[in-house]
Amino acid sequence: MTKQTTINGEISFSGMGLHTGQQCHVVLSPASAHTGIVLRNLDRPDQPTFRADVEHVLSTNLCTALGGSAGNEIMTVEHLLAALFGLGIDNLLIEVGGGEIPILDGSALPFVDKIHACGLRALPEARKGYGVRRPLRYQQGNSSIELAPAESLSFHCRISFDNAVIGTQEVSFRYGLDDFMDICQARTFCRLTDVAAMRSRGLARGGSLQNAVVVNECEIINPEGLRVEREFARHKLLDFLGDLSLLGIFVTGEFTLSQPGHDVNTAFVQQLYRNTTSHLHELPQTSLPYYPVAAVQI
Ligand SMILES: [Zn+2]
Repeated sequence: MTKQTTINGEISFSGMGLHTGQQCHVVLSPASAHTGIVLRNLDRPDQPTFRADVEHVLSTNLCTALGGSAGNEIMTVEHLLAALFGLGIDNLLIEVGGGEIPILDGSALPFVDKIHACGLRALPEARKGYGVRRPLRYQQGNSSIELAPAESLSFHCRISFDNAVIGTQEVSFRYGLDDFMDICQARTFCRLTDVAAMRSRGLARGGSLQNAVVVNECEIINPEGLRVEREFARHKLLDFLGDLSLLGIFVTGEFTLSQPGHDVNTAFVQQLYRNTTSHLHELPQTSLPYYPVAAVQI
């Protein structure tokens, strides 16, 4: 039986919010089976909670922001959610002060490292898993996301930028077989020419070379260069994993991403969420491909 999981103890993170430029604080706590991933907004006097799912997407403007209502918003959830998805964590309470998940180094690596150090706990309850009954394709402008039936969970991501440094890149990732570390260490990125435009819209106030890869037309500005080959495409794939986790259930299939972004990602997940019965079917426990069981301490 594939069991649900949570973490072994409390974990906290503090740091700058990429968009607010303010100090943020996050505490992760274990949660019981069938809780899902739940956020609590510590900035509001009533400290409201809401599930990290597609029904709570408030905006996808350069990050994924979730919330219960206007004024109750938590920004930049995607890298933490991608870390939870990659590690196979079903149940968790995420308490947030400062309105944003700290950007840390711009990747999911600091989250993965601390969660690894804390360890996972398997819960007695079984995890449900779903396969693809009917393929689904969603297109938005030049971007598209496709889901096709497959016996394992895999992703193929292609990006193409009108910039010589980023250019066209492709990466693939097979869940549980390939190393999630290659994906989770990929940092967010932007073009130097985009920085002023983002700041004039009140975004990226906390952005710096410490938490993003910045490129101009001919080179990477960060003195350390890239961390991993095709880091740009890997980061777009990482963002997709975070957005896909908003489905709230685990799907086995083959995802093909072309020019993904938070907008198209969350719109695709919304389509799948609304059409679960026609596109997905529950898998028998014996055919669930999940998870990196070695990380689970029972
Ligand atoms: Zn990102």
